[in-house]
Amino acid sequence: MYEKERMEVINTGIEMAKTSLVVGTWGNISKRIDDNLIAITPSGMDYYSLKPEDITILNMDGEVVDGERKPSIEYNMHLEIYKNRSEVGAVVHTHSTYCTALAMARKGIPGAAEDLVQITGGDVRVSEYALPGSMELAKNAVKALEGRNAVILANHGALSAGKDLKETLKISLILEKTAKATIYAQLLGGVVPLSQEDIDFMRDFYLNKYGQR
Ligand code: 13P
Ligand code: ZN
Repeated sequence: MYEKERMEVINTGIEMAKTSLVVGTWGNISKRIDDNLIAITPSGMDYYSLKPEDITILNMDGEVVDGERKPSIEYNMHLEIYKNRSEVGAVVHTHSTYCTALAMARKGIPGAAEDLVQITGGDVRVSEYALPGSMELAKNAVKALEGRNAVILANHGALSAGKDLKETLKISLILEKTAKATIYAQLLGGVVPLSQEDIDFMRDFYLNKYGQR
């Protein structure tokens, strides 16, 4: 059942681990299958070991529809995002190094780099702190994600939400690169944010004109 979607989640997990967005079994990934179903990584399993049957299929009430594995402890965070953001088709949660540094300092990423504002819609906020796996974390993440495609989770890590897994992994990589660049820019005397007008122009360009059409 849902072999294609499950394989896509597995392959994204391998990419996520290979690109050092996570270390060990932390982080998690999901994909929307239809209006009522998602495919999500199991809790605490090595990304390189996953087989299609290890990916859990959940309905929007968080009930397991198919699979023997316990789903990621963050399934509520994934479900709340799908429920509140109809355009989102995939969610990637990482514990990448530079995003974690910002998360520990409880600092967001200013809208100051072209690729970041194009792909996330502007600056990236920090959600209010809540324990991992809690419904409070899920609600806080949705709130700080409003109008954006990425969020820093206080004292925890980062999360990206995009139209599909390919785009969402790309958001996570751009986010981590920009978190690193932001810290360097602070060392150089500070970040100069872009104007809202320029951010809006670049976002529109990314959504409607960028690349091959
Ligand atoms: P899971 O292995 O249950 O997905 O938990 C990892 C994590 O990142 C919790 O926030
Ligand atoms: Zn986590």
